[in-house]
Amino acid sequence: MGAQIIDGRQIAQQIRNNLARQIQVRLEQGRPRPGLAVVLVGENPASQLYVRMKQKACQEVGIYSEEHRLPETISQKQLLELIDQLNSDPKIHGILVQLPLPEGLNEEEVIMRIHPEKDVDGFHPINVGRLTIGAKAYPPCTPAGIMKMLDWIKIDPAGKKAVVIGRSNIVGKPIAQLLLQRNATVTICHSRTKDLVAEARQAEILVVAVGRPQMVKAEWVKTGAVVIDVGINRVGKKTVGDVDFGQVKEVAGWITPVPGGVGPMTIAMLLANTVSAAD
Ligand code: NAD
Repeated sequence: MGAQIIDGRQIAQQIRNNLARQIQVRLEQGRPRPGLAVVLVGENPASQLYVRMKQKACQEVGIYSEEHRLPETISQKQLLELIDQLNSDPKIHGILVQLPLPEGLNEEEVIMRIHPEKDVDGFHPINVGRLTIGAKAYPPCTPAGIMKMLDWIKIDPAGKKAVVIGRSNIVGKPIAQLLLQRNATVTICHSRTKDLVAEARQAEILVVAVGRPQMVKAEWVKTGAVVIDVGINRVGKKTVGDVDFGQVKEVAGWITPVPGGVGPMTIAMLLANTVSAAD
């Protein structure tokens, strides 16, 4: 039979089209154009690529964007001063600091310095806390994109057994929160989980965010499960996910490809958060 593919590119395109229309309406009403500042420190090639993709997506929907490229020799104090300046800039509604920061800079302090109302990545402890208690918050972009994908394929998490592999602050923990809010029964697995395969096999919704190429094999997956592969791994010249797509698609009911799955959704949700930050 084979799984149905969840086409992240197509869903993200639809979201971008809707945002472009919303921005058009805002401008016609004389409201300000949403603005995003992207801060990139150092020369990490993956970070440079992500920043380019984010800028391009902003242009496509009509978000004003500016890029602040800083050398890795910048001091913590100078970086915090830039954040302060962006916090008080009325053109800027969202601030994104591309992570990871080079060694020697304190990531936590930088994130804490971003005004929570401009924290469109949803990493500030205020937004994390608000998300956890179910108050209005900017949800982190990757988990928010995953929830949109589930809605798109009309899978209601309520009452379903969801298993999340990975417990990072940017993917694993917040996606577990969002699934819980939508009434799934959630298990979070990680590097110390005893029997990962047995846990994964229980899942009706399996989210994998580990960063190990093709770790999840067909025998890890319950027949008909929804498999969301967050991983982005370079293997030679190819990009592969954390799921062995070729095998798992024969067992799963739905599956996200890599590339073209969760990645485009993450960027689309960043744009959505920036537009809501301008409201
Ligand atoms: P991370 O390195 O911060 O966390 C990895 C998690 O995996 C940890 O919680 C760890 O406990 C768990 N883990 C490690 N080895 C394990 C094992 N053998 N068995 C079970 N669990 C194990 O990673 P992250 O930031 O959450 O990212 C995970 C992957 O997702 C990476 O490949 C990253 O590039 C990708 N990613 C993709 C997007 C996107 O938009 N598609 C966004 C963020 C991250």
